[in-house]
Amino acid sequence: MTEESRRVFLLRAARGAGGVALVGGAGVLLARADRVTLHKIDAVQCTACGLCETECVRKPSAVKCVNDFAKCGYCEFCYGYYYHAPITDDPKNLVCAPGAIIRRKVGDVQYEYTIDESKCNGCGKCVLLCRKFGNGSFRLEIRRDLCKECNRCAIGAACPPAAIRMRRYERPA
Ligand code: SF4
Ligand code: SF4
Ligand code: SF4
Repeated sequence: MTEESRRVFLLRAARGAGGVALVGGAGVLLARADRVTLHKIDAVQCTACGLCETECVRKPSAVKCVNDFAKCGYCEFCYGYYYHAPITDDPKNLVCAPGAIIRRKVGDVQYEYTIDESKCNGCGKCVLLCRKFGNGSFRLEIRRDLCKECNRCAIGAACPPAAIRMRRYERPA
C-alpha cells in the first residue's frame, strides 16, 4: 500500500469509528477524519529563498505566488515584474522566467499584475524583489487544491527560517 492510499485508508477508518485513530509504527496520532492538518506559509517569516520551488514533492510545486491587491501599488514599473528598464516585455527584462505574471493596464498610470498559477513554479523571485523594492504585495502560498497534505511537508523540513506552519482545519462536509 502506498503512503497516500494508507493515509486515505486510515482517514476512512477514523471516520467510520467517528473519532481518533492511532497509526501504530509511526506513532502518529491522526485527528478526526473531519479535520485535516494543513501546511501554511507564514509570509512574514518567509525569505523567498527558492526552496519552495525545488523541495515540494509535487512537480511543479504546490506553492504559488499570489498578489495581494489591497497592498499592491499598481505600479507602472513593478519590481516583481521587471528586472530593469526599459519598460518593454522583452523576456530579458522580466523577473518571471516562465511568464506567469500577467500585466494589464487598468488606469492612466496604473497596471494590474495577476498570476497565472498554471505557469508559476513558486520560485519566489518576484516575491523577493517586490518585498525589497516595492510594497511587498506578492507572497507565496501553498495552494490547497494542489497540495498533497503530506504528513510532513518536505518544504517545511527544508525551510531555513521554519516559515511553514501546521494548521488544523475542519474539512467541509
Ligand atoms: S522554503 Fe521557507 S523561506 Fe524558502 S520560500 Fe519556502 S516558505 Fe519561504
Ligand atoms: S517569479 Fe517565480 S514565484 Fe513569481 S510568478 Fe514567476 S514563477 Fe511564480
Ligand atoms: S505538504 Fe507536500 S505537497 Fe504540500 S506543499 Fe508541502 S511538500 Fe508540497
